[in-house]
Amino acid sequence: AAKAEGRNTHRRFTQAMEQKALERQGLLAKLRGALGRGELYLNYQPQFDLATRQIVGAEALLRWCHPELGAISPERFIPIAEESGLIVEIGQWVILEACRQAAAWQRAGLPGITMAVNLSAIQFQRPDLCESVAGILATTGLPGQNLELELTESVLVGDVERVVNTIKTLKQQGIHLTVDDFGTGYSSLAYLQRFAVDKLKIDQSFVRNMATDESSSSVVRAIIRLAHSLGLKVVAEGVETAGQTEQLARLTCDEVQGYHFGKPMDAEEFTALLGSRTTPA
Ligand code: C2E
Ligand code: MG
Ligand code: MG
Ligand code: MG
Repeated sequence: AAKAEGRNTHRRFTQAMEQKALERQGLLAKLRGALGRGELYLNYQPQFDLATRQIVGAEALLRWCHPELGAISPERFIPIAEESGLIVEIGQWVILEACRQAAAWQRAGLPGITMAVNLSAIQFQRPDLCESVAGILATTGLPGQNLELELTESVLVGDVERVVNTIKTLKQQGIHLTVDDFGTGYSSLAYLQRFAVDKLKIDQSFVRNMATDESSSSVVRAIIRLAHSLGLKVVAEGVETAGQTEQLARLTCDEVQGYHFGKPMDAEEFTALLGSRTTPA
């Protein structure tokens, strides 16, 4: 009986795996044409200076609305785009669209902000990355200082010399670099000395548990101290409550982003937000 049970468990496991693979294949087939059909668009989430409560930036977040399936989360489709290599084309479009939007806001005389764009490891490793970003800045007229690229720690573990050179070339264009989801990766902290990044973004898992879990608030405190002692800025993501905001202010965090301050929104809503300049307490 135990043996039969084991076989059944194994079969169920295999079936679940096959089901998953099929689902991914189906999604990939749909994703291939999504950009051309106009199913992809960007949302923008505001980032605030914690001391002045002014809007200082926006993070561009990719959205996919499929005509039959509806909204599909980036947590689901970005890994598929990465595995298939589609992320190169899609990511290129994201940078262009985000820069175009930021330049349009600037030309409209709205408060100047930095546009943050997420970059996949595959994009970062492309030898033509710097050139293509330079081209986008030239085309859209957005100054490099108004663009920030968010990298994850996984990007920074490759060929050290190449990473150093890529970062140097991007920074020569005035572009800012941020380490996203900081604290969740496996790389050594030594890279912070070698790679001239500008900012650390504290992962939302630490921010979420800050009030209830002593170790999370210790991690947040340590990241802020580490950043400041290296001369880097620090931004907290996933800030959902006034309590978290107060705690982050006490710990001298520089910037905040999260539902408490503003959810990701479409370009039109963000335009209204920039125009009103109102900030929550
Ligand atoms: P991320 O870059 O760490 O983005 C933060 C995620 O947290 C976003 O999820 C955002 O909507 C969500 N978030 C913001 N504030 C709060 C909050 O207060 N509470 C909670 N619970 N969540 C909050 P989203 O938009 O689903 O994106 C998920 C991930 O997908 C991103 O994580 C990023 O890694 C990836 N992603 C999104 N757009 C792009 C893109 O254009 N290119 C690449 N390569 N990756 C992207
Ligand atoms: Mg990000
Ligand atoms: Mg993040
Ligand atoms: Mg994340």
